[in-house]
Amino acid sequence: MEESPDWATLSPEEFAHLQKYLDYSSKKVQDVLQDFYGDGALSQHRQGECVDFEGFKLFLKSYLEADDISDALCRHLFMSFQTTAAGQPGAGAGSDLVCVNDVSCYFSLLEGGRPEDKLEFTFKLYDKDGNGLLDSSEVDRIITQMMRVAQYLDWDVTELKPILQEMMREIDYDGSGTVSLAEWLRGGVTNIPLLVLLGLEVHMKDDGQHMWRLKHFNRPVYCNVCETLLVGLRKQGLCCTFCKFTVHERCARKAPPSCISTYAKSRKEAGVQAHVWVKGGCEAGKCGKCQKKIKSFQSLTGLHCVWCHLKIHEECLACVAPTCDCGVLRDHVLPPSAIYPVVLERQNSQKNGSGTPLEETPQAFATPEGQALRVSPVLDTHPLLVFVNPKSGGKQGERVLRKFQYLLNPRQVYNLLKGGPTPGLNFFRDVPDFRILVCGGDGTVGWILDAIDKANLPRRPPVAVLPLGTGNDLARCLRWGGGYDGENLAKILKDIEGSSVVQMDRWHVQVLPENPAEKGDPVPYEIINNYFSIGVDASIAHRFHVMREKYPEKFNSRMKNKLWYFEFATSETIFATCKKLKECLSIECCGTPLDLSGALSGVAVLNIPSMHGGSNLWGETKRPLGEARNASGAGQPQAITDAETLKTCVQDLSDQRLEVVGLEGVIEMGQIYTGLKSAGKRLAKCSEITLRTLKHLPMQIDGEPWMQPPCTIKITHKNQTPMLMAAPPRSSSFFGLKKGPVEA
Ligand SMILES: [Zn+2]
Ligand SMILES: [Zn+2]
Ligand SMILES: [Zn+2]
Ligand SMILES: [Zn+2]
Repeated sequence: MEESPDWATLSPEEFAHLQKYLDYSSKKVQDVLQDFYGDGALSQHRQGECVDFEGFKLFLKSYLEADDISDALCRHLFMSFQTTAAGQPGAGAGSDLVCVNDVSCYFSLLEGGRPEDKLEFTFKLYDKDGNGLLDSSEVDRIITQMMRVAQYLDWDVTELKPILQEMMREIDYDGSGTVSLAEWLRGGVTNIPLLVLLGLEVHMKDDGQHMWRLKHFNRPVYCNVCETLLVGLRKQGLCCTFCKFTVHERCARKAPPSCISTYAKSRKEAGVQAHVWVKGGCEAGKCGKCQKKIKSFQSLTGLHCVWCHLKIHEECLACVAPTCDCGVLRDHVLPPSAIYPVVLERQNSQKNGSGTPLEETPQAFATPEGQALRVSPVLDTHPLLVFVNPKSGGKQGERVLRKFQYLLNPRQVYNLLKGGPTPGLNFFRDVPDFRILVCGGDGTVGWILDAIDKANLPRRPPVAVLPLGTGNDLARCLRWGGGYDGENLAKILKDIEGSSVVQMDRWHVQVLPENPAEKGDPVPYEIINNYFSIGVDASIAHRFHVMREKYPEKFNSRMKNKLWYFEFATSETIFATCKKLKECLSIECCGTPLDLSGALSGVAVLNIPSMHGGSNLWGETKRPLGEARNASGAGQPQAITDAETLKTCVQDLSDQRLEVVGLEGVIEMGQIYTGLKSAGKRLAKCSEITLRTLKHLPMQIDGEPWMQPPCTIKITHKNQTPMLMAAPPRSSSFFGLKKGPVEA
């Protein structure tokens, strides 16, 4: 294989930056590539199979959907392709051209998708005459691109390189020097390290298959196959997400398909759960049986149970009862013994002769592989159904998905990007007392609540939130915090166990355009969970939204988000749009017209006491001592609009009432976002709202902005949904006392 002397023309920071662009871009390299051919926009920059720097830059801008890619990044990337093209006629270190294939091969490896498709795409890129054969130097170039991607993904390629070389020897077994597509695919999909590099995806089809990923360890770890130490400066190996079986890359092929069963395969396995032991994974731990330290004598030591996570000495195994209680997380876990194929049940009922007639048994859930499974959870548990949106919160989402797959049964954990919420809701439909955990932003929570509306479940399950990304107003109000920061997930599961159910109001919003023929942006939602606004606030959100799509790298921390809001808030154009709001807007609360006099640039309608990442537009209310909380809105159809009465009104997400707040102007908005000012002007508290507009105005629902032509908007109560609210933070009075008056 050709050795590239200059791998690192792109710094790790630049590569991280590039990946961020890729995360936000919706384009596929295959599509943008077309611009170089025919009369495409970039065709003038192509010379044969190569492109010049100018063309490369335009390609990057189009592919990454960003205008502000730094010149240095473009140049460094370009140079990295020049070095690999060395030796090719027309493109080399000397000339100012790079090979189109190398560029697209590289980016296609970084894109999402199935490994088989990536392998096939890369093959076809280099098979220019389309005869289905590659010569060995072309295959070498593909491998060079793969190695490059591997290195940037923080992979020590000293293990990978011999594996790929061996793969090449095996593929071209006759030594003819050419490789067919079939050979290339067969070699690729049986090469586990290569599949991991290509983003291997295991479906829940076959229990027993490990789900590998590359992992670095900061302590000595031994291979579960050859039992010798993992090597490399950063102790790298492949580790199974489900059972923590860990191997050298070179040993992956020899690993037995001994991964966990996610459901009972026989009558014997149904009903009572047994421990499932995997060797190793006990480093520096204490034995759960004899309480003595599990010492590693430079070998694979100890056993851990994949369900209860108990760690023990091998010699203590005989003293441990075989039954597994699923450990500290048992309230959440659906053990495999609680999930069994319907076939087993039928045998059962036939045997004792008194079985329920088949048509009366509840609808069983069929897995994608056609196995009908029935769930019968352990008594007095609350099996947790977890939905993860891996697109929320950068890489954090994928990490959370993986960790929950280990902590719980993988059949409890659903990736929302693969088939949405329906498969999970169907699987849990008849599980009594199940709870839901949504890992994502407020938008993801809204998505799941909608899905629950539509699923028509026998009982509405309560929903907890693990907030990913920024914003997360709903999660804040329910005390789950503003954004997950890598805290221990087992602890978060314990918090869910100790949480309580609150009913949250949800509101129906109907937008009736004045002129149905006039097309505005599509209205993002029909339901309000958090808040709705018109005018200055919405226009800021609208610009913010557009900017975030365009410049993702400027929005990478919560603090920066706040500063950007401030910058938008002081922009002149927005000020002009909303200055005369009262001339083109009227509002009725429970039939009472609202007085919109005074300087008003925006109006917000609130269901929950948080907006745009923790700002509270309604503000704090000092509750008079001894007074009970606000009575439910159900008995009071009138709107409260009197300024003095409004001063005493407390926000409550289950009172079937909405709060209406007026916003003076952009300066005030900026001050509220940055915490300099606490609230807007209280206008009303009511049970239904009608708004009429006479001009195009920016609006938003739950942080999703759009531009709306003149219309009538009706907001009415839809329903209540149970949400899980975390316990208030432990009283700090003990420490408070110590700090405070103790010395006095
Ligand atoms: Zn495994
Ligand atoms: Zn090994
Ligand atoms: Zn166990
Ligand atoms: Zn022991």
